[in-house]
Amino acid sequence: MATCSATVPDLNGSGDAFYGPLWNSSQPHVDYFWTTYGFAGNKAYWDDGFGWEDPGNISLPLGRTFNSLWLLTYSAEDWENDAYEATALNWGRRYVRENIRDLRARCGDGTAVAAATGTLVELYLDMWYGQAVPERASTFMHEARHIGGKDHNDKFPAGSVFSAGQPGADSDWNYEGAWMYETLYLWWYFAAGTPVTSAMRQRARQMGNLYLDNAFAARPPFRI
Ligand SMILES: [Zn+2]
Repeated sequence: MATCSATVPDLNGSGDAFYGPLWNSSQPHVDYFWTTYGFAGNKAYWDDGFGWEDPGNISLPLGRTFNSLWLLTYSAEDWENDAYEATALNWGRRYVRENIRDLRARCGDGTAVAAATGTLVELYLDMWYGQAVPERASTFMHEARHIGGKDHNDKFPAGSVFSAGQPGADSDWNYEGAWMYETLYLWWYFAAGTPVTSAMRQRARQMGNLYLDNAFAARPPFRI
């Protein structure tokens, strides 16, 4: 990170200490993630401090991204089944794989954790150092849904912790937009993700409920 830096939060609190050892910087995993999720050809965006030289370092952006991609890929009990008829825990990895073709690391300006343009997704410091591992995986779902054709179509509701009255919300749950995909993934991870820790489950539930309460112009009439 030649032009930006961040403080690394506690690795247990973010879930990185739990997920890192599950792939333990194994080269087959690194190669799979690299070729499957849009890194290929983008070394120039992931070196120079973002982690390319040290992919197993879970304090650096690349290792922290790989932790969330491990979660996204393997958290369903029957993870080999990525059919769209199965749960979001199953098809999440497929949806992300089929939509995000160009994944780049950037510093960001502190206003977003990630952004999608065309088939390109940029990830920012606020994702790696502000979000726990399950939330990072759900961010992939969010950005993939934008690429899949759903822009935000409404304004944040009154009282929203996001910018109330400003654009960036989805109209409602049935719009099946980026907030719905993100929340749905967190919900399934909470309900059926494995392996998992109770702390990560609760974090996913909390974040899912936060989105239900704040990211839809018409608040869904249910909670996780
Ligand atoms: Zn969005």
